[in-house]
Amino acid sequence: MKYILISIILLLETINAFQFPFNLNNLPSKLFTSKINNCNHPHYSKLHQNELPINLSQYSNDIVVRVSYTKTLKEYLILQKDIKFNKWAQNNNKKTIDLQINTDEFNKLLLKFPNLQYDIIIDDLSQTIYETYPQTNQSELKDNENLNFQTQSELFFKEYRDLATINSWLNLIQITYPNIVNIEEIGETYEHKKLKVVHFQVPNDDIEHHEKKTIVITGGVHAREWISVSSTLYLIYQFIQLFNSWPNSKILTELNFLFIPVFNPDGYEYTWTTDRLWRKNRQETPIPKCFGIDIDHSYDYHWTKSTDWACGEEYSGEIPFESFESRIWDNYLNETNKEHKIYGYLDLHSYSQEVLYPYAYSCNQQPRDEENLIELAWGIAKSIRLKSGYNYQVLPACIDKDSDLLPDLGSGSSLDYMYHNKAYWAYQLKLRDTGSHGFLLPSKYIEPVGDEIVSAIKYFCEFILSDDR
Ligand SMILES: [Zn+2]
Repeated sequence: MKYILISIILLLETINAFQFPFNLNNLPSKLFTSKINNCNHPHYSKLHQNELPINLSQYSNDIVVRVSYTKTLKEYLILQKDIKFNKWAQNNNKKTIDLQINTDEFNKLLLKFPNLQYDIIIDDLSQTIYETYPQTNQSELKDNENLNFQTQSELFFKEYRDLATINSWLNLIQITYPNIVNIEEIGETYEHKKLKVVHFQVPNDDIEHHEKKTIVITGGVHAREWISVSSTLYLIYQFIQLFNSWPNSKILTELNFLFIPVFNPDGYEYTWTTDRLWRKNRQETPIPKCFGIDIDHSYDYHWTKSTDWACGEEYSGEIPFESFESRIWDNYLNETNKEHKIYGYLDLHSYSQEVLYPYAYSCNQQPRDEENLIELAWGIAKSIRLKSGYNYQVLPACIDKDSDLLPDLGSGSSLDYMYHNKAYWAYQLKLRDTGSHGFLLPSKYIEPVGDEIVSAIKYFCEFILSDDR
């Protein structure tokens, strides 16, 4: 009897497996397929390996899928270890999670949750990745003395740029605007790349430098979030334009800016040479062949060790400030304590279109001035909406990080560290989009996203100037 029962169960499971397998030829109608026909981009599979920026076949069995979650499914996805996937983002209002997942693993998930509601966001991941790299050679921009700053910059923002091209553009600014731009190298990463701070200050005889309020803006903490790098660079460019047209503007004369466009140079470089979807830095961990610490989980404020292992994307390191970048930043702030009165901090990430305010580590801890923090966050969101019509949600970072489900997920963030130790006004901005392309936002959005972030930063600066603490 027992064997008959087992046989029936096995048979039912087999039927189940035939009913629910996920098959790329038999997808729901909502699927995006048009990108393959984009005439600007040949399909990567038609090209020789030498013509491709990285090995794209590593993603060929992966899809990005948006699943609607119930409490059970969400807990399963966060706590389980038997199905492999990378979490891209989640939307707490719509109760969805975006997963990058191998089609075989997705089939396992479908067998476990047969009623799973899902949409395929990206079906041809390799091609979508391929299309984020520049289609033209970048060398036209490197050390080209025939182009002036203006012309070079207009070209520069047409595509995403690799680290060498970014560095040569930054050098060009330094040479063209030596009175207002000073690039400081504040330390070296694990791979001996320089961590560069673009110190932007317009001379003002009426206010001593150390009396000016300082605003810190960072991008590229997570390597694959390219739009945060391009947006920080675009901000620098637009501040130079503002200086050219209105040098006496209060934003420029009464504030001091520290921009760090590429906070994670090792990781960023790696996304250009090896894996477009890399997130962490690239330093050694206790497990051989597992590289990288999540820099945004490395700061010594309510730091707890991640439950994620060293190979995982959320790995915190074994001790606080173990990541080179967070330690360099902390040292720099401590050494230049008297020079910089940091009032504002904006850490740019992607994607989700969100303005996140402290704290990240816990929803039980109420930040000081919570009402004011929320008021400014809504103001930032509104300034974006007025500029481009795009909606950014305002919420505490702990909710976005799921700190209530697993406290280590939100701990050791730069948001909490900067808010608690250094900055009155601290936010993390998750830029576009809400998931059609996710981390793979096409380069045609560099300038539109840059423009809406310029509006947001101007609003942020005016708010801080009017705040008389
Ligand atoms: Zn990020």
